[in-house]
Amino acid sequence: NLHSTKTLANGVEMPRFGLGVYKMTERDETLNAIDKALKFGYRAIDTASLYGNETEVGEAIRHSGVKREDIFVTTKVWNNDQGYDETLRAFEVSLKKLNMDYLDLYLTHWAVPETFEETYRAIERLYDEKLIRVTGVSNHHEHHLQKLLAKANIAPMVNQVEVHPYLQQDALRAFCSERGIAVTAWSPLGRGGVLDHPTIMEIGREIGKTAAQVVLRWHLQNDTLVIPKSVTPSRIEENAQIFDFELTVAQMDKMATLNRNERFGQDPDHFK
Ligand code: NAD
Repeated sequence: NLHSTKTLANGVEMPRFGLGVYKMTERDETLNAIDKALKFGYRAIDTASLYGNETEVGEAIRHSGVKREDIFVTTKVWNNDQGYDETLRAFEVSLKKLNMDYLDLYLTHWAVPETFEETYRAIERLYDEKLIRVTGVSNHHEHHLQKLLAKANIAPMVNQVEVHPYLQQDALRAFCSERGIAVTAWSPLGRGGVLDHPTIMEIGREIGKTAAQVVLRWHLQNDTLVIPKSVTPSRIEENAQIFDFELTVAQMDKMATLNRNERFGQDPDHFK
């Protein structure tokens, strides 16, 4: 069901499904989307200092009536706040905006070459101080993770990267899986850009599900966590209704053929 979780390397249960809130910049829109999602049963919210809506995320959670400890909250340190001391300071700012006394997961947003290692060291410290329950990174390739793993006392438990049918990330997902790093897919729907693919639409027709539901279910069956974004109430419901059916092996095989190594976002090695 919607509260289904993946057990992370340290034993913490992370919801496999949640709401992404990128580009929710309008206050009421953000409050309403999160309120709708939590009412419908979502138990994870993915934000970032970059998104400029941490204040609204905190507010919506407090007003929802759902207990703080029942919601898995993720935020991220932005690129120009990276570095050891800088990250600790940025975390304080995010925590204040969210108006919380701990976070579930704090991520390095992108692997800025000069600073991503020091940034992760600060995330380890936040974990030691019990200010976050889980450590992680975002937009890290295997070579970035290798560097962190060589030095880390606490291996990153989550890597949040772009994954969707056109960018399936088989190698990175296998690498992470072998090392006990959970993978969260950002832009799990390819920002909506994969939903008109004939194969996806055909599978949807076969089983009476929408293209978005097919894609999100495909992620879950690949053991990838998802955080689709929508502000539309009907889609917030639709995206969550993926726990009462399964894609067959044949359907999963068809989905596997759609990979094109095509990014909608930036490559972590060439981020500007
Ligand atoms: P997404 O793949 O979740 O697509 C969202 C878009 O798809 C919506 O804006 C809407 O246009 C469309 N859509 C949503 N549900 C639909 C449905 N049922 N039917 C038809 N269309 C639908 O893209 P995203 O917002 O880029 O990614 C999701 C979340 O991932 C973000 O909100 C954010 O939290 C996170 N993210 C993280 C990073 C990072 O660098 N770590 C980058 C991008 C996004």
